[in-house]
Amino acid sequence: MTKKKSTFDKYTWIITELVIGIAALGYGLFGIIVTPTTSNYLYIILVCGGSILTLAAIIQILILRKKKIDKFCSKCGEKIKKEEEFCAKCGKELA
Ligand SMILES: [Zn+2]
Repeated sequence: MTKKKSTFDKYTWIITELVIGIAALGYGLFGIIVTPTTSNYLYIILVCGGSILTLAAIIQILILRKKKIDKFCSKCGEKIKKEEEFCAKCGKELA
């Protein structure tokens, strides 16, 4: 039996990504400012990785938001989630 991944799981993963990204970015920047310039490679990697993770998380949030509201009911104009087959407001079947 396969369990369908819920929106909550997706958001949990994105938030984890965002937190790790920002933490890595902050730690990396802090390290670069505090330590002398000789051994900054690790911090530079942290800043790069952190930026990528943070950006990826933001893009995923934007995609999820766009996917969530992209249809409108032709009868009553209610916003419809992509996976729904019937309008939640008026019950019209959605093609
Ligand atoms: Zn409707």
